[in-house]
Amino acid sequence: MNNETTPTSCMQHLDAQHYLHPFTDHKKLAARGARVIVKADDIYLWDSDGKRLLDGMSGLWCVNVGYGRQAISDAVYTQMEQLPYYNSFFNTTNLPALRLAQSLSEVAPKGFAHVFFTGSGSEANDTNLRLIRRYWDVRGQASRRLIISRHNAYHGSTIAGASLGGMAGMHSQLGEQDACVIPGIHHIGQPYYLESGQGLSEHDFGLKAASWLEQKILELGAENVAAFFAEPLQGAGGVYPPPPGYLKGLRKLCDQHGAFLIFDEVITGFARLGTWFGANFYQVNPDLLCFAKAVTSGYQPLGGVFVGSAVRKPLEADPDFFLRHGYTYSGHASACVAALINLEIIEREGLHQRAVHIGKRIGEALTALARDGVIDHARGDGAVWAAGLHATQSNIKIRDRMLELGAITRAINADTNTFCPPLVITDPQLDKLLDAFATAASGK
Ligand code: PMP
Repeated sequence: MNNETTPTSCMQHLDAQHYLHPFTDHKKLAARGARVIVKADDIYLWDSDGKRLLDGMSGLWCVNVGYGRQAISDAVYTQMEQLPYYNSFFNTTNLPALRLAQSLSEVAPKGFAHVFFTGSGSEANDTNLRLIRRYWDVRGQASRRLIISRHNAYHGSTIAGASLGGMAGMHSQLGEQDACVIPGIHHIGQPYYLESGQGLSEHDFGLKAASWLEQKILELGAENVAAFFAEPLQGAGGVYPPPPGYLKGLRKLCDQHGAFLIFDEVITGFARLGTWFGANFYQVNPDLLCFAKAVTSGYQPLGGVFVGSAVRKPLEADPDFFLRHGYTYSGHASACVAALINLEIIEREGLHQRAVHIGKRIGEALTALARDGVIDHARGDGAVWAAGLHATQSNIKIRDRMLELGAITRAINADTNTFCPPLVITDPQLDKLLDAFATAASGK
């Protein structure tokens, strides 16, 4: 089947007949027909009707270097001809995987010399859970089984990912009376100042939100708590940056109570915040750190977990150091090559600095709209931002109007539109994105 010659209606019909979409209301989809994306370049996508869309969300928060990077496709092509894939199970390795592990260890926050590869962010979170459980078994403290996470967190969509995450709508589909299908996962409140910070300074709220972790640890018994999972900046839940003092407070509490701190950096990694990782940006080092998405800018599926020495050393010291965990595609050669070139591009083109600039411009534009009363408020860090809307506004209507105007943002919850553009977006392109939002948010 060829994009150029197949009518849109035919592709939509086949799609409706055979393709079950992720996170989709299929009744609505069938009524309107899927938009068929046929090509991409720079920060633009084109659909099968020839409409060009400015991708203000980098796909799903991942295409940090933009589309159409021939250096990545050439390298993947060459790798595929030579060795597309081989597993890393039976005392084997491959050059792209080991080189990527080395390159990642160079850009990782301090203390992370080892990486475990997965195919996605969800698998990376399963890996986090597996490593932590194994760790406490090896240490002879098998009672430390309980995990604490947060309401409205997103950690993926496997059973472990959905259980670790705090999305009520996902929990309700896990098929258990209990909130989570995996027992022993507990959730505390998200640190959203406008939701629960009334009457406090932002800093005091940060400390208060961190104290929720302590309350939960004490309630469960510190001797039973294995780890706390957090996105440094909550992404898919609605873009909530951590209040000041919050992440440092979490680190302190985890240390005090002997629990591990795990950062899910699937969105915040790879220059999105203007640093390689959120751990650098917020200056808080976790014990495990998982990533995916922008490690390849979405050109190939890949994820992983950085394993810090506090977790790794006891595992390695175990006489039976045999990790019964892994994926067919752990260390996938073609995916690792895409990541290697992607990292080079991020470095060479100064995308960290660019992220700072982009974020400043988005933040200023949204703050000005809030000042003029067009939206309620702006929130974000680095180059990931949210427009918080008035109760009278519809984020779906705004999103759809923006699509008519040729730009993509995401509508999250009932009151938020999010921005996470490729880090190669130019100032004039950014103006177009922000103008489209201002028009749509003004109801024009
Ligand atoms: N963690 C976070 C913070 C995410 O944002 C996502 C995806 N949006 C995931 C995990 C899951 O990643 P994947 O979809 O690659 O499994």
